[in-house]
Parts: sequence; structure tokens; C-alpha cells
Amino acid sequence: MLWSQTFIPTLRDDPADAVIDSHKLMLRAGFIRQLTAGIYNYLPLMQCVIHKIERIVREEMNAAGAIEITMPVLHPAELWQKSGRWDVVGKEQMRMKDRHQRDLVLGGTHEEVITWIVRGELRSYRQLPKNFYQIQTKFRDEPRPRFGLMRGREFIMKDAYTFDATWDGLKNAYNKMAEAYFKIFRRIGFDVRMVESDVGAMGGTGAHEFMVPVETSGGENVILSCERCDYAANIEKATSLSLADEGARPEEPRQKEMVFTPGMKTVEEVTGFLRVGPEKLVKTLLYEVDGEVVAALIRGDREINEVKLKNYMRANELVMAAADVVMRVTGAQVGFAGPIGLSRVRIIADPEVKRMRNFVVGANRDDTHIINVNTVDFTVDEYAEIRQAQAGEICPRCNQGRLQSYSGIEVGNLFMLGTKYSDALGANFIDSDGVEKPFVMGSYGIGITRTAQAAVEAFHDEKGIIWPKAIAPYDFHIVPIEITDRRQREVAFALYEELQERGYAVLMDDREERPGVKFNDADLIGIPVRISFGDRSLKDGQVEIVKRRGKEMVKIPVEKAVDKAIEIFGQL
Ligand code: ATP
Ligand code: MG
Repeated sequence: MLWSQTFIPTLRDDPADAVIDSHKLMLRAGFIRQLTAGIYNYLPLMQCVIHKIERIVREEMNAAGAIEITMPVLHPAELWQKSGRWDVVGKEQMRMKDRHQRDLVLGGTHEEVITWIVRGELRSYRQLPKNFYQIQTKFRDEPRPRFGLMRGREFIMKDAYTFDATWDGLKNAYNKMAEAYFKIFRRIGFDVRMVESDVGAMGGTGAHEFMVPVETSGGENVILSCERCDYAANIEKATSLSLADEGARPEEPRQKEMVFTPGMKTVEEVTGFLRVGPEKLVKTLLYEVDGEVVAALIRGDREINEVKLKNYMRANELVMAAADVVMRVTGAQVGFAGPIGLSRVRIIADPEVKRMRNFVVGANRDDTHIINVNTVDFTVDEYAEIRQAQAGEICPRCNQGRLQSYSGIEVGNLFMLGTKYSDALGANFIDSDGVEKPFVMGSYGIGITRTAQAAVEAFHDEKGIIWPKAIAPYDFHIVPIEITDRRQREVAFALYEELQERGYAVLMDDREERPGVKFNDADLIGIPVRISFGDRSLKDGQVEIVKRRGKEMVKIPVEKAVDKAIEIFGQL
């Protein structure tokens, strides 16, 4: 491809609205342009990357026995009402009405549709197992679309669905998909990790995510993994053995007492003012859970895990209570809520609270806290583990190693759905014993567009993107310094044609631009191998071959340039 004939609108400066490196680079290097929040145009270079990722995904899915189909993007609302997800997915679902005022859904995932297709078509256990997949644009009205393609409202996904007769069959299918995922992400060049995850709105009995570890801010997920065994889980799901009681001496209960804490609202402010550690305070967090106000109690130095709380309450929606709600139920501003006298509010406490003595709580009165409180002073409706596990705590699996944390980008996931959807939609088959049974299902996603950006987040430097060769938009980038020079032009086209004849994808910068501009753009767009030359190098009959990663450079006679470039590319 000639630069002049394609469309690569690079930008000199970082776009103001991008926060993380990969988003900035995708915009600057001319891969994407936003249309509106979370909705992007994929420009020609991006299109090349998408095709390469899709190809790898297709090859490995086909090799694992999956069958490609294409399902509709528009779904009738009834399907989602039947499965019960119309309410669960709620606001995240893009909805519309047709001319007859019938509700339609723009698909964000296809469990309902595939189950509907299979129902009545697959009748016998002899037709199982089956694995169907598609690669398609998905729609989700994300509450916070951000970071470019990382969290879009429209994005490309590979989704696969397995149908088995038995749970053992499902486990087999699940493992096969996990293996295919390892192959896909390793071919792309990621040091990918498979971690346990929460099942979320998908439901089912178990789930895993494939994470690309990143050091930068692009990792939306925190993973806790054991330093000794193979335990690894998304922090939303992770558990740990608490170290709360390490070295603690039991205390005699003291008399509780109201104290004036003017303007002290945060844990640090209150405990600093009262000269106690944060582990001597119980935070009272108020939530609105499907319309009901709930108080969650947790030790002052812990974080609450909202996913665990939401799961425990089997809720569809959980949000922090707004200031006016806090005022209504506690009679005080935000920052002074406490469990004593908090009537008509369901109180859920983390089990750690049960072991605490003589702690501090808010008094449900402005500028006031209560000290020397004990659990006998109020009523806890339920104890439930709602604490977020933390790095440094003990592994729940081996009971020995400490947990370490790192951040990652979720590029794919696996769900053991079981019979949730086949039960809800009445999708059954006749088993070998002649009995009608629901299909045992699994569901498996890969974010194609998110994977592209994850690669940029994982592989870049201060000058630009460093594409791993498996998904680079082109293999080689030819940069003649002056395209108007006859000799340079001849060499450029000769190399360009020969590399293409030998099966490689080549971009040639045929612009009449200053060399600095071309080299900066080459670094920015990140093609793995660059071949460049000008008057001076050609005078010696030589060209320069530069690897984008590490910027190693070799000079080589023109006649040997193609072989050498291919050799260098092969070693990447
Ligand atoms: P997340 O926890 O990031 O919201 P999810 O659990 O909703 O992800 P799935 O519904 O399983 O994800 O989708 C499968 C894959 O699609 C994810 O692993 C991710 O790679 C990708 N994906 C999900 N949501 C988005 C989005 N809003 N933008 C881009 N890719 C996405
Ligand atoms: Mg999501």
C-alpha cells in the first residue's frame, strides 16, 4: 500500500480528550476517530489490525471445532423477557421501537438468540456437542464509555456458545475453549493470564477471564494472584484469609460515648482527629439496591467489594445512596452515618466487624461520632463477606502464600452457563435414555477491538506503537527520504514489489514530506520492520533496516535488502 493512496491521518500532538497511552496513540497514529461517546470509526490501519486479529481467532476457533455463523444484531424484546435478562441487563441494553411500537434490542451478547435457534433444531444427544461462534459488532450502553476502544458502546466481539448433553461435556468444551484462547492470545504476543472471575449478569456456575497484564493505567481490572500456588482471581471475585486478628489482644467492652468531630467525614479525618488507627472504625456505607436503602458495615481500613454485596443481595442495580437519601435515612450529611438507631434500613456487615471491639461509628448526627461501640449496641440483619481481598493477605487456596496484585486488561472470558438459558427458553434434547433434558451450555467472548488496543497498551514506547508482528497492520514499512529522486524511487518500488511478491504486507511512504516527519510517523504507527534510504546510503549501494522494537539498525547492500529484511522479520 502506498501512503498517498491510503488514509493515515496522523496527529503531531496528543489529543486532549485521551487519558491512557493506548487511546492517545490510536488517535495520534490515525487508527481511529470518535464519532460520539464510545463509538468509533475504524480507519484503514485499524481495519488491517482487525482483520489480522479476526483471522487468528477464526483459525483457532475452527481448529477447536467451533462452527461460524452470523446471528442478527436486532433482537425482539420478548426473547430477553423470556430469559429474564430484560430487567437484569437494564440500562446497559440499547433499545428501540419499530414502526409498530414493538420493542427491539441491539444485541450486546447472544445467549438468548443462539438458544432460540438451537431449540427445535438440535433434537438428539447424537447431535451434541456443538459449538457455534460469530464475529460481530455489539452494542452496550456502558455507564462510563472510556479509554477509546477499551470500553466502547459499539465494539467488535467474537462470541461462541457450546451445547452439551452433560456437565462433564461442558467442562470438556470449556477447557477446549480455554486452550484455544491461550493459543490465540499467545499468537498475538501477549503474556496472557487466565483468572477466576465473577459471573455477573451472565449467570451460571463459574467463569474465567483472560487478562493481559499491563503496568500502565489502561488496566481496568485488578488481579490478585498467589505467590506460591496457581490461584489467580479478579479482585471482584477474589477471597483471602484476613489477617485482621494477627497479634490482636481481646479487649473488655467499654462504655460508649458521643464525641464532637467537627467537619471530620473521611476515615482518615475521623481517626486522625480521634488518634486511633483506621482498624478501630466501622464504616457505614449506604447504598440504594434496586430501590431499597441498605447499610453496609466494614472495617475502616478495608474496601467494600460492591460486586460481592450485589451478588449477596441478588440485586440488579446497586448504587451509592445520593446525599438527599443519606440525609433522609440518617438525618445527617454524608460522612456521619452509623448503625446505631438506623431504623428501617437493612444492615449487612462484613464478618470482620463481629470480631471488633470498642470501635468508632458515625452518630447519624452532623459533626458527631460515637466511640467505644460494640456489636451489642446495634442490630446487624446479616453478616456476609463483602470485603475486598487485598494484596499481602493469605491465599484462600493454599492457605500459605501471600496475594500479590497487578492490573490487567480483560480481553476474553469464559462462562459455564449450565442450563440457565436452556431452562428459561425451553431448549431441550432427547438424551440416550430417552428422557428430554435441557442443554448444558457455555459462553465464550473475545473483545476484538479491545484486544487491538490492549496490544497498544502493552507494546509501545514514548515515540509510538510497537505492533507485535502477528497483528501489525503491515509487515514492512519502506521509507525513501526523497521520493522525487529517480534512483530512490526505483529502489523503493523494486523493494516494495519484491516483498509483496514474496507474500508480505508492505506500506511505502511515497509522500513528499520532510524526512523527520516520515520517520516520526513511522515510529508512531509502529510497523515492525522499516527499510529506509536516501541519497547518501544509496551512493554506497546500501539501505538501512531498522526494527521498531529496540530500534536496532543494520546497513545492507540493496541487492540483499529483501532477504535480510525477511530474515529480521522472521526472527521477531
Ligand atoms: P467488562 O467486565 O469489561 O465489562 P464483560 O464481562 O461485560 O466485560 P463480556 O460480556 O463477557 O464482557 O464480553 C466479552 C468480551 O468483550 C470481554 O472480555 C471484552 O474483551 C469485550 N468487551 C466487553 N465489553 C466491552 C466494551 N464495552 N468495549 C469493548 N470491548 C468490550
Ligand atoms: Mg461489561
